[in-house]
Amino acid sequence: MTPIDHDNQHGRQQLVDTLRTLVTKGLTSGTSGNVSMRTAAGMIITPTGIAPDQLLPEHIVAMTLDGQMGDDQLTPSSEWRMHADVYHHRPGLEAVVHCHSPYATILACAHKSIPALHYMIAASGSSEIPLATYATFGSQELSDANLEALSSSLACLLANHGQLATGFSLEGALKLAELVEELAHAYWGTLAIGGPELLAREQIDDVMVAFAEYGQQKKRPDLASGNRLNQ
Ligand SMILES: [Zn+2]
Repeated sequence: MTPIDHDNQHGRQQLVDTLRTLVTKGLTSGTSGNVSMRTAAGMIITPTGIAPDQLLPEHIVAMTLDGQMGDDQLTPSSEWRMHADVYHHRPGLEAVVHCHSPYATILACAHKSIPALHYMIAASGSSEIPLATYATFGSQELSDANLEALSSSLACLLANHGQLATGFSLEGALKLAELVEELAHAYWGTLAIGGPELLAREQIDDVMVAFAEYGQQKKRPDLASGNRLNQ
């Protein structure tokens, strides 16, 4: 068995900060949110039953992706399988944020996936935030449903439950969870006034191309070769 990394202090602090950010941004309350990061030995994840304002870096649980951990560890989030299976099956993904953010949960309870009503949905890598079928929290069935939904997107809604966002970094997963909530809010609002006018697949594809170039400064011809702005 690969040794478990107990000393990932920076990563532990990042998870604590991220869970507290979920609270300050109104994306979670109580103890329902959980976040994790991939590590060399598996993952580190927030523990179950500890409120974000009580959470300390030493509470973060280090475990392998098949659920092994040292005796000195707290009990991990009840949703640890959902996190571990993402890392096991999606090698490029480095972080997972799960929460019951209000508008995403409203749509999840109405069994509505989020369609392409706003161009920013392309940041999910898809033209839709899919809906994972319902299964009991913490179950392997829920993790399987989550993976199935994530086969077409970096984020999904979990039926009658909440949302889950992944990322190539913890910051990316947090931003995507925020975006899912914003899109859910917008969709909920449009449903009250007749429903959204949706973007076409080609329009979303154009956004994805534009995202790939967004924020990159063009090289200035009046500057010496190699001296790029904002590098
Ligand atoms: Zn949950």
